[in-house]
Amino acid sequence: MKGIGILGATGSIGISTLDVVGRHPDLYRVVALTANRDAERLAEQCRRHRPSFAVLADDRAAERLRDLLADMAGAPEVLAGPEALAQVAALPEVDIVMAAIVGAAGLLPTLAAARAGKRLLLANKEALVVAGEILMSAAAASGALLLPIDSEHNAIFQCMPAGYELGLDRVGVERILLTASGGPFRDRTLAELEQVTPDQACAHPNWRMGRKISVDSATMMNKGLELIEACWLFSTQPERIQIVIHPQSVIHSLVQYVDGSVLAQLGNPDMRTPIAHALAWPERLSSGVSPLDLFAVGRLDFEPPGLDRFPCLSLAIQAAESGGTAPTILNAANEIAVAAFLMGRIRFIAIARLVRATLERLPAQAVGRDGLESLLEADRQARATAEQLLPALVA
Ligand code: NAD
Ligand code: MG
Repeated sequence: MKGIGILGATGSIGISTLDVVGRHPDLYRVVALTANRDAERLAEQCRRHRPSFAVLADDRAAERLRDLLADMAGAPEVLAGPEALAQVAALPEVDIVMAAIVGAAGLLPTLAAARAGKRLLLANKEALVVAGEILMSAAAASGALLLPIDSEHNAIFQCMPAGYELGLDRVGVERILLTASGGPFRDRTLAELEQVTPDQACAHPNWRMGRKISVDSATMMNKGLELIEACWLFSTQPERIQIVIHPQSVIHSLVQYVDGSVLAQLGNPDMRTPIAHALAWPERLSSGVSPLDLFAVGRLDFEPPGLDRFPCLSLAIQAAESGGTAPTILNAANEIAVAAFLMGRIRFIAIARLVRATLERLPAQAVGRDGLESLLEADRQARATAEQLLPALVA
């Protein structure tokens, strides 16, 4: 019986994780659930999964959860604040941590899980974009097993040979083919992109996800963040990764070997597959995902990405190549831009403009000896700079 803590339990990935875990009560016990402010949904989850701890972002939300659970026998201990997130991620009775908070807000609790040597199921790609080296070396130092949940990275992991951590050349891997659906605006012209609304941007053709990653998929910033994520997870460089548009989202990514072999992982687009894979690895677990029907799929298409229509993707590739604080700045500016777009303050095409302007204002620097502190400072600075630049872009 393994204890599991879910950071970001009320989100899209959190809900899918509880669905898989709930199918195997003989194997997993839910120890801790966390959310930002949604006390109502967290209360429902607590009644159904009976964790020992529940964490919310602030005292007010925590008080609301305590009220909602006042009549529950064996109600969880309710905690509040960022330190409590890190605390539950490192509890001795937690064997597995699902890191599914969205954005850089997930970094510190995810790092706490890595330092505590947990099996770390990583959905929170922004944590690796902001502080990849620190997170990877924390996991290596403690012996934490870091398993990717992002569907592409989980697919790549499944197609990699043993020993890939020592370098792709040593195991005969030539490159990684990172697939992308192209999002809801794959066929739109630049002029059409001027007018798109938040709801259109969040209507992804193949996946149901949180609003931030949905917008990232529409701008293709998501693929850029994923390229950076893949560089850290598979110790490689941007030039060894080719982005391939594959609109059906049936192949979740591929690994190309020097002998001409290409291995792919296929499945219906449902995050319960990578979640079940990482929970049980190296064993397998039923996930509730229906079997892939190739006859219903019919055909698989591929095309190169149109970088001119997706400037966010180019910006992310440049940041990956620059290294240092560039990916941290890119991520922070993007978080500010996406939030402003979702609130109706700026237009869709202004997202890339704000990210570019922030990167131009703040040249990338090498990460100092104090590592984490200089990255957190770069993150704060980039947010402040993006906020300053924002009014000029308001539609
Ligand atoms: P979501 O918005 O649906 O859920 C986010 C969760 O994090 C919620 O539980 C929310 O309460 C919590 N949260 C948000 N801000 C917080 C804060 N400041 N402090 C503490 N908790 C906070 O997002 P999602 O779609 O589930 O995505 C979660 C992460 O997984 C993201 O990094 C995303 O890129 C990644 N991911 C998601 C999918 C997917 O299919 N949804 C696929 C691949 C990767
Ligand atoms: Mg993905």
